[in-house]
Amino acid sequence: MGLNDSSPGAMRNGRGLSDQWAESVMVRPRTTERHITVHKRLVLGFALSILTLIIVTAVAVVLSVRYEECGARDGGPEVGTRGSGGSARLNGSRDRTGDRGDEEMQPWRTSRLPGTLRPRHYDLRLAVYMDNFTFSGDISIEIECVNATRFIVLHADRLEVVRVSVTAEGSGRLANKPGGGVMRIHRHFAFPLNLMYVVVLHRELKPMRLYRLNISFDAAIEDELLGFFRSSYTLQRERRYLAVTQFSPIHARKAFPCFDEPIYKATFSLTLRHDPQYLSLSNMPVESSVLSEEDGWVTNHFSRTPRMSTYYLAWAVCNFTYKETQTDSGVTIRLYARPDAISSGAGDYALHITKRLLGFYQDYFQVQYSLPKLDLLAVPKHPYAAMENWGLNVFVEQKILLDAEVSSSSYQMELTMVVVHEICHQWFGDLVTPVWWEDVWLKEGFAHFFEYVGTDFLFPKWNMEKQRFLTDVLHEVMLLDGLSSSHPISQDVQQATDIDRVFDWIAYKKGAALIRMLANVMGQPLFQKGLNDYLLSHMYSNAARDDLWKKLTQAMRSEGRDIDIGEMMDRWTLQMGYPVITISKNQTKQLPMHYITVSQQHFLYGQDTRHNNHSLQWQVPLTVVVGNASMVSREQLIWINNKTETHRIDTMHGNTWLLGNINQTGYFRVNYDLQNWRLLIQQLHSNPQMISVGNRAGLIDDAFNLARAGYLPQNIPLLLIGYLPEESSFLPWHAASRVLYQLDKLLDRTDEYNLFSDYVLKQVASRYHQMGWPNPGSGNEGNVLQASYQTEELQRELIMLACSFGNKQCHRQAVAYISDWISSNKNRIPPNIRDIVYCTGVSLMDEDVWEFIWMKFHSSGAVSEKKILLEALTCSDNTFLLNRLLNLSLTSDLVPEQDVIDVIIHVCRNPQGRELAWKYFREKWDILNARYGEALFMNSRLIGGVTEFLNTEKELNELKEFIQTSGVGAGPALPRALEIVEGNVRWHRLHRRHFYQWLRKPQASAFNG
Ligand SMILES: [Zn+2]
Repeated sequence: MGLNDSSPGAMRNGRGLSDQWAESVMVRPRTTERHITVHKRLVLGFALSILTLIIVTAVAVVLSVRYEECGARDGGPEVGTRGSGGSARLNGSRDRTGDRGDEEMQPWRTSRLPGTLRPRHYDLRLAVYMDNFTFSGDISIEIECVNATRFIVLHADRLEVVRVSVTAEGSGRLANKPGGGVMRIHRHFAFPLNLMYVVVLHRELKPMRLYRLNISFDAAIEDELLGFFRSSYTLQRERRYLAVTQFSPIHARKAFPCFDEPIYKATFSLTLRHDPQYLSLSNMPVESSVLSEEDGWVTNHFSRTPRMSTYYLAWAVCNFTYKETQTDSGVTIRLYARPDAISSGAGDYALHITKRLLGFYQDYFQVQYSLPKLDLLAVPKHPYAAMENWGLNVFVEQKILLDAEVSSSSYQMELTMVVVHEICHQWFGDLVTPVWWEDVWLKEGFAHFFEYVGTDFLFPKWNMEKQRFLTDVLHEVMLLDGLSSSHPISQDVQQATDIDRVFDWIAYKKGAALIRMLANVMGQPLFQKGLNDYLLSHMYSNAARDDLWKKLTQAMRSEGRDIDIGEMMDRWTLQMGYPVITISKNQTKQLPMHYITVSQQHFLYGQDTRHNNHSLQWQVPLTVVVGNASMVSREQLIWINNKTETHRIDTMHGNTWLLGNINQTGYFRVNYDLQNWRLLIQQLHSNPQMISVGNRAGLIDDAFNLARAGYLPQNIPLLLIGYLPEESSFLPWHAASRVLYQLDKLLDRTDEYNLFSDYVLKQVASRYHQMGWPNPGSGNEGNVLQASYQTEELQRELIMLACSFGNKQCHRQAVAYISDWISSNKNRIPPNIRDIVYCTGVSLMDEDVWEFIWMKFHSSGAVSEKKILLEALTCSDNTFLLNRLLNLSLTSDLVPEQDVIDVIIHVCRNPQGRELAWKYFREKWDILNARYGEALFMNSRLIGGVTEFLNTEKELNELKEFIQTSGVGAGPALPRALEIVEGNVRWHRLHRRHFYQWLRKPQASAFNG
């Protein structure tokens, strides 16, 4: 599943982090918890049974006659009602012994399915009524009994059940004798608390036998982006509707009764009947299509799917058109979208890369794509960026349609990565599915990691995995995972409501970072070999993290490398956070110079929380090199298992520097003694190329964050970026701008702010002037294939830094562009820098420009353009206009619902709008929470975006007050916000004075801590 992106710099696509952190500081045992819960329930149930048995025995005699009467009526269907008279039938030997105890156990009261039954095949027939947005269905599920039971417990939500019947299939095979094995139903009812449906039978189902459960039901095609839902678009001024499914994680039960947990894999045969003006799609191709002579409706029978989880089933009813292509191995790929988008060619790019990607993954995994076809469906509205339903991937239009004329290269890059992500899921997710949601990172971490690997295959020059991965994944997630409110990547999930919570940045980004670390430890060939073995062993089935560790360990051992991957990785997946590794040259006289001391410590931003966390330790694959002005040694791998270790390093002398975590392949930070920091900074100033581009970016990110958390004096990162005028690569600049914007948020309302902005501009100026602005009209024309991506991105980064920190020439250039646009009514601003120019123009120029951009926002048809126009409106320093924008976005339908949150967050980013937006957020919280509260990730992004800038005692108190009065039930976002704001306030208290002191006279205090 691909989450939706917000703007760079903020916590992109952030879903809420869990508040499970409190119990997460120790390594959690993997399985015991659930067993203990079950055990307690059993004991409790047993005690209750005995008590009730005594009462029942006394009462039963008196009431037995009436029970008998009720029992006689039980056979017929009782829609959604509890059967009368309970279950104390006194006749029938099995019933007498097991009955009361069974009912007391009430397996539907447990949040998980009982595991006594296993679905093998679903026959699902649906009639879809697009005129009144309803559908009716008949499901026939072939069920295998695992343990004897009288209860069929499965999932259903919001379905109106009309009829239920159960038959036994002849002696273990499907004989289907008409009426032969009808099972008498005692009662059946919905249990909404657990979104379940229960069928209670008179007699037990027997182990190893097959049964068939038939249910007829009606339901609505809802207007809310979950289950089987509808959305609309306009074509030639006519409103058109479509209906599509989104079942992940727990919404298949909204469309048909099913065993809606990932472990219950089965095959599916789907039949859809609908008005012939629509076409229908599903995971598999249409096997036969029949037009009814009676009513003219069409009935499409889709081929039987392979074994898969319920949440990967999908279908759509729409009147889209398509373009198609075919892979060399004969897989048909079609892209379905609005007819106008197809005719304009907006889907061509995605279709083209999908074809190449199927080939890439087949080669990489050495496992064929499993289905005969793959459809990509572009829908106008979707709760996520995309969803990887097997054979029918659904994308929100902005993540798959590319308007080559106006799209920036970053838009194209983002879109590319979403496609790469979903195609990867056809293997990691669809083919092999995590056993349970606690390990959702197993599929999301892989898909996110492969976004970079797969994009490198498509565009080798982008160098994504070695470069962009660091800033966009590693640095981003270490920011979050360094908070004490973080949580382990594998987190315990029981309740249905917890499941949404696991799709968060930790699952996606930490998952990807850990997988990358592992791939580097193993080396590419062995990593690939292990994955291949893992996929082949678990295809069409489920796997847990231990299954993966086992295969990867086997791959290593096959080459004689004896590492227990599971033992190593448990430290990283079951513990929250990550370590900071401190390397220092040996200072003691006893050991010679070429010994180093390495220690590990749980990295936390909060100095006061650090002391409570002595216990966390990791198995750290630390790579090290030493170097000086003329040479760099070979990389050396050292495993760090203890708190402190001493290791021998060859070829080290007085003036050689040490560098750890080569190319930042490890998921940890590295700190050094001050002397070594000095040597590294000297090296960067004199010849940065001696240190790899990934490590240059890594040194910047580590230094700033170590200083922010108080592990390092404030002047070290400032000294470090003094080398930036020598830096000609994009990545270190990108890493620098990210940490500088972080600092900017802390400082932009302080009296001495100019000291900081001047220092930044001093570093930026020469490279900015050298790179200049892109030629008007040259643009990238959407063709990143030819464009020199790195140069273009560097140019963009420098313009952004120059304009936002106040470079006069940059401002003049932006104003000139806007003036030209207004006077000529021709937009000649290169697509790649439009957001910067619009925002700078709005902030510097008068109200007319704001009105002009507002007008353009309304008239523009391209989704990417619309978004940056809207964001530009938040850059004004006129609080009257900002207030107007906030009110308009919430109260009118001028701003699309999903963009309202961005408007509020962006007003907050503007120092002039901060107070306004913070106040507005609190005043409108009830409305916002009612609208977005259900979509946890939206809510969490809003809370994070509005609060991360707060940094005074007064604002901290306002936040605390807000949490006390209104913050109940907002999930883990508020505790996290509180921790961040407390950190901001603490930084001001402890470090600001020192920070500015150095900036006032940087040379004099160079290395005096
Ligand atoms: Zn995904």
